[in-house]
Amino acid sequence: MRWAYWVDALLCLLLVCYFLPELTGESRERLLSAEYWIQRMRGEHLMTREGVLWRGDPRVPVVALTFDDGPDPETTPRILDILRQEGVRATFFVVGTKLKRYPELARRIAAEGHALGCHSYDHQRQTNLTEEQVWRQIRDCQVLARRAGVQLVAYRPPYLEQNATVRRAVQRWQMPLVMATVLGEAEHPTRTHAWVYRYARRAHNGSILLLHDTYPHTADALPELIRALRQRGFEFATVPEMVRQLSDGPHPPTFLRSHE
Ligand SMILES: [Zn+2]
Repeated sequence: MRWAYWVDALLCLLLVCYFLPELTGESRERLLSAEYWIQRMRGEHLMTREGVLWRGDPRVPVVALTFDDGPDPETTPRILDILRQEGVRATFFVVGTKLKRYPELARRIAAEGHALGCHSYDHQRQTNLTEEQVWRQIRDCQVLARRAGVQLVAYRPPYLEQNATVRRAVQRWQMPLVMATVLGEAEHPTRTHAWVYRYARRAHNGSILLLHDTYPHTADALPELIRALRQRGFEFATVPEMVRQLSDGPHPPTFLRSHE
């Protein structure tokens, strides 16, 4: 009956693999890459030497709310009102073309204590571009930010797609390239806000939560999401605060050391 042990062992292994994303707060795709495990052994799985931030400190019950694709004249002000009422600070990854149209919204985001990041100039897939083109996408955002009187302190690629070329261009701007650990916000309006609880359950210490300040239904559900996360014991930080926390840890990324 020795084969029965093997079947049990295989079942256990499958179960562990199934729950690994929940346990580690990493995406399945990332867990399947050898690169991730090599980085983990080197202690670089939170933020790589190249400045890719995957998540914050796993020992601290802090998560980061991040909003992509804005600023949006309808939804962004609503989201800002809620964040102010709740006393939560977040990070907004703005698209250059929208920053150009709504600089006053970017000013309000910064004035209310949130962090701003660049989410490319025109939201095209950056992995199709050359290093120079990606660099210019960020430069165009920087020019608009300066004109608006705000600072962009991080970068997130559209569709979370990045490669060595994109990373090199971002590094030249000395910005962290910020990925996300919790995805799965409702893409369309829903009758109930049930997705909020599924979404909040996926959060772990140091999770970076991906949301959009262009979805009205996300603004509708935001107070409930903040409540659900607080019930799980989480506090909120901006991305630069998360990076600072990591740099105080035992393995500060060389990217940060060179930044000082
Ligand atoms: Zn986007």
